[in-house]
Amino acid sequence: MDTQAQKIDGKAASARLMDSIRAEVDSLTIAGRRKPGLAVILVGDDPASHVYVGNKVKACNTCGIESFEHRLPADTTQSDIALLIEELNTDDTVDGILLQLPLPKGLDSDPLVQMIHPDKDVDGLTAINAGRLVAGIDGMVPCTPQGSMILLKETLGDLTGKTAIVIGRSLLFGKPMGQLLLAENATLIQAHSKTRNLPELCRQADIVVAAVGRPKMVKGDWLKPGAVVIDVGINRMDDGKLCGDVDYAEAITIASAVTPVPGGVGPMTIACLMGNTLKAAKKKA
Ligand code: NAP
Repeated sequence: MDTQAQKIDGKAASARLMDSIRAEVDSLTIAGRRKPGLAVILVGDDPASHVYVGNKVKACNTCGIESFEHRLPADTTQSDIALLIEELNTDDTVDGILLQLPLPKGLDSDPLVQMIHPDKDVDGLTAINAGRLVAGIDGMVPCTPQGSMILLKETLGDLTGKTAIVIGRSLLFGKPMGQLLLAENATLIQAHSKTRNLPELCRQADIVVAAVGRPKMVKGDWLKPGAVVIDVGINRMDDGKLCGDVDYAEAITIASAVTPVPGGVGPMTIACLMGNTLKAAKKKA
């Protein structure tokens, strides 16, 4: 490409989405309904998790959503967390339940996540919501792939017939992102650590979505000229700065549009969490 790629502004897109959520929440409350409620369970002292939860509570305030924080000590038992989830499942003021991961060592997150009522599973991580996504049944879609898809559609419009590669196949991101692309009639290549000839496969793709956790792994010469690149990776470098899984400086000389890190997919994740909470509240009503 002769000119530099468009920088896909996730911060601006997230602010627009949160504004529209706020407007909908306001119209619900003006109509006499209670505010949607999000319960967040945070166990232990992981500093990054405390920052993430703080940001989620702030986003709730911005959107007019009630937040219920349950900050528990690191020595909380599996059964205490299970009891809390059971209580929240039946609490009518709680529309969404979020168990902040990772949990401290010794706790097993999966059975706890699976206990969350599927209609309150605003992270979209229960097997029921994963199954709904595959089956094309409306459900809770995980926030980061949902946010990535919004950015892609805002950038490209119709995705029909586009070739898309997703690098990564995690339950949190790679697999649901693949399903969302298929639902939009893209042709999917789902790559992972055992994939052969990854650069070659990438060069076939009109859409490259990288979610690996390896700094600057995707190089400029892996990209087809004009490709749209969604960089999900968040990696902390030795100098303390964040970078993605894509070599941004190289990618912007080849691609037509790229998400930066930070300021790309990250802000969309939190906005989609607010969107899922509103959706859960509307479904309950
Ligand atoms: P994960 O569970 O560790 O999955 C990583 C995936 O990358 C796996 O499927 C793995 O393949 C694949 N992989 C590893 N090395 C590879 C290689 N050399 N070539 C091709 N594929 C390779 O991670 P995740 O939860 O999906 O997250 C991925 C990244 O996204 C992380 O940096 C994370 O911090 C970031 N993230 C950001 C947000 C956000 O809000 N922006 C949200 C979630 C995650 P195998 O399955 O074969 O092991």
